[in-house]
Amino acid sequence: MMLSIIEKQIKRVTCNKYVNPNLLNILSRPTNEIKMNFPVKINDKIEIFSGYRVQHNNYLGPFKGGIRYHPSVSLDEVNALSQWMTYKCAIQDIPFGGAKGGISIDVNNYDDKQIEKITRGFTKALYPYIGSNKDIPAPDVNTNSKIMDWMTDEYNNISGNFNQTSNMKSVFTGKSVGLGGSHVREEATGRGVALMIREWALKKNYDLKGKNYIIQGFGNVGYYTCELLNSYGMNLIAVGDHSGYLSSNEGFNIFNLREYVRNNKGINGYPYGDEISKEDFFKTKCNILIPSALEYQINKENSKDIQCDLVVEAANGPIDHEGETILEEKQIPIIPDILANSGGVLVSYYEWLQNKRDEYWTEKEIRDRFDEKIEHTFKKIYSISIRNECSLRNACFLYAFEKLEKNFDRKFNI
Ligand code: NAD
Repeated sequence: MMLSIIEKQIKRVTCNKYVNPNLLNILSRPTNEIKMNFPVKINDKIEIFSGYRVQHNNYLGPFKGGIRYHPSVSLDEVNALSQWMTYKCAIQDIPFGGAKGGISIDVNNYDDKQIEKITRGFTKALYPYIGSNKDIPAPDVNTNSKIMDWMTDEYNNISGNFNQTSNMKSVFTGKSVGLGGSHVREEATGRGVALMIREWALKKNYDLKGKNYIIQGFGNVGYYTCELLNSYGMNLIAVGDHSGYLSSNEGFNIFNLREYVRNNKGINGYPYGDEISKEDFFKTKCNILIPSALEYQINKENSKDIQCDLVVEAANGPIDHEGETILEEKQIPIIPDILANSGGVLVSYYEWLQNKRDEYWTEKEIRDRFDEKIEHTFKKIYSISIRNECSLRNACFLYAFEKLEKNFDRKFNI
């Protein structure tokens, strides 16, 4: 079902522009779809978990993509997410291909020790398919640096390598800084989202200072997006997550909210703001709407009520085909996921390079390099959209297809 979002997105591009049909044919299916059922002993009982890894395409470099722990994880979902990764890496000119993986699991049913056991079990199952020049996993929904550290440790245990050589560290990105991770990785995706908004605003002569925004998802990506947007003088007036939705005309103190979410695993019960429904959240009149949780959140039902100047897809696939058509009719522009949240894989690439070279770059070096690259990428895609009179999403696909086609031609000696 999720794959059909991509098919429709691609159809929007190809109805106006010629794209090599052989390339499209290749990209329509992933290279490898792996399902692993692995046993883990939980409270003296054996439970069988289903894990997935889909390796979509590696024309541009080793497969790369996050690991998600969520009940909705399925082959179809991972498949779609892996394909978006291929385009995301192409758009950022990163020498990686696309992959994605995950376990179908409700993390709320397990404690930390059990999550570690499950993570180690999954790493054993994944072992033959991943590697520093083959496929490099990273964090995604409900996974973080702690999980990447466990995965790295388990991978090294299996390979009998305890010395953490550069090659062994570079199998995973998003690790904690003390164990080969990179500065700025944790904040990278959200930072990239906010910088893309700033670049869009510069192009449109749209002053962000004093403007407001609403965000669905206050996890890693959501929080860091808010941190930078607030530093531009913007105000968060409604927020939601898996536990509920809140609104406040004065705006939220994002630092206090973060502290609360850390301690309570969700925004439910936060003592400031008014509780609202999910429907009312999407109806909230605001300047910028940022879905930063899961896919399919903006659809035929709620898009007609959306009142904002811009929608930014911090999450992957949050707007379905009908939702996008309605937003287009309402002339609400979208900064698409494959552009908006591409900052995460950019710093993952920096982490991989540092590991490979046994280097440690300073926070400043990474921020400077990152900010310049995000600015450059936005300008590049924006100018393609102007030249072709198309949306930013279509411009992203046009750029990615052109880049992938060069490698496709070489591969098939055309
Ligand atoms: P996270 O686990 O840190 O946070 C997820 C947030 O979504 C939480 O606030 C959670 O409460 C909320 N959420 C979960 N289910 C929900 C539901 N049913 N309704 C409303 N809210 C719900 O994950 P994250 O890393 O912030 O990822 C968020 C999105 O960004 C995902 O789509 C992910 O694929 C995408 N993304 C993440 C990265 C990264 O580096 N972490 C990179 C690129 C894209």
